[in-house]
Amino acid sequence: MKTIRSTAAMAAWSKRLHREGVTIGFVPTMGALHAGHRALIRAARLACDAVVVSIFVNPIQFGPTEDLSKYPRQLGLDRSLCRAEGVDVVFAPNRDAMYPPGSQTIVTVPALSRRWEGEARPHHFQGVATIVTKLLSLVQPDTSWFGQKDYQQAALVRQLATDLNLSGRIIVHPTVREADGLALSSRNVYLSAQQRQAAPVLFRALQAGAAALRSGARKGPQIRRHMVRLVAQEPIATIDYLAVCDPRSLEPLATVQSQAVLLGAIRIGGVRLLDNLLVTVRTSSRRPRTALHESR
Ligand code: AMP
Repeated sequence: MKTIRSTAAMAAWSKRLHREGVTIGFVPTMGALHAGHRALIRAARLACDAVVVSIFVNPIQFGPTEDLSKYPRQLGLDRSLCRAEGVDVVFAPNRDAMYPPGSQTIVTVPALSRRWEGEARPHHFQGVATIVTKLLSLVQPDTSWFGQKDYQQAALVRQLATDLNLSGRIIVHPTVREADGLALSSRNVYLSAQQRQAAPVLFRALQAGAAALRSGARKGPQIRRHMVRLVAQEPIATIDYLAVCDPRSLEPLATVQSQAVLLGAIRIGGVRLLDNLLVTVRTSSRRPRTALHESR
């Protein structure tokens, strides 16, 4: 396994492999790798001849009061995990390599960035869009993997890749969870034992929303209130947002037709937890005729 630090060396490596007819799978990360990242790496390993994992804590996606300086950094451990998973290249540039003095260009995806995470973190998604554009241009992957855990980010990356004709296919991998439902996240290490116990309340609320939808509820605000009530039962959790949205536009739905994404972010102590569930419901027009007959 190689560790590449410079952008020129990364681009040259990809160019050489493409010339040799090797397919490249790519998993962009900020490091502090866990089983969620590992699932993406394994999917890439299965699908492509060579795998690149980038490890870069992207400063421009953090706000001035956010946790950039204390974001967990553990390159040695991350490299060991990558080696064990058969990764070919860890691309770990430093800040100046990605944003040399004088760089100016910022990429924005305005509509998908406006709500939810974008409201809580105003410059976050332009930072994400800019780094993803730069990484895909350098690595030139045949396929890249992103986690459903960051649903809004994945939706934005899909839009960005389409709009800018960026390299390769984008695959969104299902969220990897702890046994009690908590979505794995590099930030979970900041939770105290008591906070960790409370943390699965977000997943339980999303599950309750999904169950309501499956049992016939269709009004977005009503489903949202149901999720809010559930989180409110946990005294140390505060809600940033809970929403019932269109899975593509991420706009709130007054009425769910056939699909919705339930999006949530809560704070426990100083830790912000994100999660979501994508729910498909059977509409009455699609109900098999036999079911109608049986209910008479
Ligand atoms: P990060 O290092 O947090 O920027 O995450 C890198 C990639 O891993 C992103 O595409 C995330 O959505 C994905 N990811 C993070 N946590 C999980 C998880 N629990 N399950 C699946 N994918 C994840």
